[in-house]
Amino acid sequence: MKINEFLKDKGCLSEYDPNTMSYEKALMLLEQFLTVTKKTTHLPIEEAQGCFLAEDIRSPVNVPNYNNSAMDGYVFRHKFIKPKNNKFKIDGKILAGHPLKTKNSSISCLQIMTGGMIPRTFDTVIPQELVQINHGIVEFDFKPKVGANIRKIGEDIKKNQVAIKQGVCLNACNIGLLASLGITKVKVFQCIRIGFFSTGDEVVQLGSKIKAGQVYDSNRFLIKAFIKKMYACLVDYGNLSDDKILLENQLKKASRECDLIITTGGVSVGEADYMKEILTKIGQVLFWKMAIKPGRPMAFGKVNKAFYFGLPGNPVSAAVTFLQFVKPSIRFMMGSAKFEKLPYVQLKINAEVQRKKGRKEFVRGIIQRQGKSCSVIPLLQQGSGMLKSMSDANCFIVFDADQDLIRKNSYVNILPFDGII
Ligand code: AMP
Ligand code: MG
Repeated sequence: MKINEFLKDKGCLSEYDPNTMSYEKALMLLEQFLTVTKKTTHLPIEEAQGCFLAEDIRSPVNVPNYNNSAMDGYVFRHKFIKPKNNKFKIDGKILAGHPLKTKNSSISCLQIMTGGMIPRTFDTVIPQELVQINHGIVEFDFKPKVGANIRKIGEDIKKNQVAIKQGVCLNACNIGLLASLGITKVKVFQCIRIGFFSTGDEVVQLGSKIKAGQVYDSNRFLIKAFIKKMYACLVDYGNLSDDKILLENQLKKASRECDLIITTGGVSVGEADYMKEILTKIGQVLFWKMAIKPGRPMAFGKVNKAFYFGLPGNPVSAAVTFLQFVKPSIRFMMGSAKFEKLPYVQLKINAEVQRKKGRKEFVRGIIQRQGKSCSVIPLLQQGSGMLKSMSDANCFIVFDADQDLIRKNSYVNILPFDGII
């Protein structure tokens, strides 16, 4: 749907309030308005990490592509194994990569290594730890199940089966899987172009001496670092002063050159906060104030064909709004199968928290391990300009808008900063 059509007829969404948009509603609207890139390219698998697949990958082979032993041990025909007193002469050895070459009809037992090919008509492997060897004879006193310790052809993936679906963001394990199928190149969505600039007369660049009344441009490095991890193409337009004409021209230029524009600062209600006014003049604003903490002022809209996020200037607010709204939007535009809602884990909180109802809150916390269990502790410094506590934290503790008293040792929702893959 187009933003201007939606703004004319909001019948499809009750309680639409651009001034205080709830977190959940904002995500719903983003999913509705953002468009997915159509441009695709072929990349060697070692360059495709972080890209989104533009096609289903069907396996060209069976995995494994031959029946093989899951253990170092001995291979038999099940029908010749008795419940007790088994004694078999070892008639040879099969190593991985060296299938048996001789005819095997007179053979009843072979030593076999993990990954060794199971000879035709053989069907059961017993690990070496479960047998005794006496002068070239294998002895054991039990009957295993037929097919024991054998990895069957195609048991992991069958030929032509979909191994990875379109829309998956390729991680190390996906790339390993592609390699295991013998696939060298994949069709992925091209990265989108993201234009970024920070705003503010008080913001100075690294390398210059800072004077009283000024701040270093941390947002530009923060946002750039977030985007770098996402393998998107960033166009860095630097820092602009709070000058309406400059800002307007830069937004127009970025909208011609990029699919998405991100700015920080100037979206609030201060004297020199011009971004919303400019966006209303040259584009469309869908919402600009969020019922979240930190990060209340955040604008979303469109300039020409480019989507636009105006993030708050306070660095922690910029980080929170980026992670909660912009990151899933970028992933969606880059071809993610769905608009991702990050999964929460639940942990006990190690402090009592009293808070005001009304806004969803992302509190900086530390997950700590004590013995066998984990709990979370909120950091003391929670100011929206305090990057130190954001840098110390390893998770957000997420409180819903309607929560007020959170008792010590109750379970709370956690968004850990780091995944493991
Ligand atoms: P604003 O959203 O423009 O009203 O800015 C809010 C606060 O964030 C002010 O204290 C600014 O100095 C600070 N701020 C704005 N932009 C940046 C930036 N690029 N880096 C660090 N702090 C910033
Ligand atoms: Mg400002």
